Amino acid sequence: NITLSKKNLNISASPTLSIDAKTKQMKAEGIDVISFGVGEPDFQTPENIKKAAIAVIEKGSIGYTAAAGLPELKKVICQKLEKENNLSYHPENIIVSNGAKHSLYNIFQAICNPGDEVIIPVPYWVSYPELVKMADGIPVYIECSEENQFKLKKEDLLSVITSKTKAIILNSPSNPTGSLYSKEELEEIAEVAVRNNLIVVSDEIYEKLVYDGQIHISIASLNNEIKERTIVINGMSKGYAMTGWRIGYTASTKEIAKVMGNIQSHATSNPNTVAQYASIEGLKGDQSSVEEMRKAFDERRKYMVNRINAIKDLSCITPKGAFYVMMNISKWIGKEIKGHTIKNSIDFAEILLENAKVAIVPGLAFGADDFMRLSYATSLENIEEGLNRIDDYLNK
Ligand code: PLP
Repeated sequence: NITLSKKNLNISASPTLSIDAKTKQMKAEGIDVISFGVGEPDFQTPENIKKAAIAVIEKGSIGYTAAAGLPELKKVICQKLEKENNLSYHPENIIVSNGAKHSLYNIFQAICNPGDEVIIPVPYWVSYPELVKMADGIPVYIECSEENQFKLKKEDLLSVITSKTKAIILNSPSNPTGSLYSKEELEEIAEVAVRNNLIVVSDEIYEKLVYDGQIHISIASLNNEIKERTIVINGMSKGYAMTGWRIGYTASTKEIAKVMGNIQSHATSNPNTVAQYASIEGLKGDQSSVEEMRKAFDERRKYMVNRINAIKDLSCITPKGAFYVMMNISKWIGKEIKGHTIKNSIDFAEILLENAKVAIVPGLAFGADDFMRLSYATSLENIEEGLNRIDDYLNK
């Protein structure tokens, strides 16, 4: 009789996985499924980045690097943060990891003691609660309404703070909601964080994907006080179409960086050396492909939002960033469609997958059961066809 780790038995598999597994199975059976489930750009990694990687491989200098990242890459990250985010850091503030997810893992391992509370705005990215629990922290949720663009309100934040509150997670632009915090909104949160001695875990992985002339602002850039207690997370996956390369990074105080670096030095050593060199080119080289991808996402975003709002009893607000739309399905909950009663977002997702052959992630995965998350990281043709199928199934 083998007993396993009680803490880790408590970590759930992603609730999106069953839909994902079913989608893959249907595709393998030759069924033509349109997927709105993807969390990655459908573009190729830009040529200049690929070439930089090939050049490193051919040069053959692919040994271990410093565990917390290549000094040259850290320097380039500092230059990027200075130029694009108005943030001044030194290489010792930077830890390069195996994707932003790994950065987040390091963060909670570094900052949490058993019982520490971490505030997570809902809807949240699926991994946040589990990453906190893996570090013996306790997730504390705050519901953020669609009326408030799924953004945190100061009074709600104040109402959950206790003597155990350690940190708050901020994700702007957000997965799954696409919401983007303005400077004024960030200032309010920063003020609460400073006054209550909270760490701000600021996940800025979608910063390159903002629309409607809006700009992404890093909360750390507001003033020195908030910078001292913010851990900025960013990475190459979303903005540079480099999901599989696995490079993410953090910028924080030296003290926090040191603890994260020590953890990483034993857990994984350095992130992939070739991918680190490629990331130098990504951050330093020609940025025009980033803008091309952003424009393509923007066109799809507008189309998707218009189409959803034209379908009877479905609606969505217009996201300002990332590549997701939160579709409000509350009018369908409790209703019957062709003999199936829709009890929740999981039912709705299963019914649409089986009957309309469209895969969508149920909102429950993000703590928001009245919604479904549609990714527009797929072609306009697919978006049109997928929404046609949904409309036809529900309304014809
Ligand atoms: N943070 C958010 C909000 C995400 O959506 C993702 C990926 O889906 C990540 C972090 C992790 O990105 P990666 O580990 O690929 O850098």
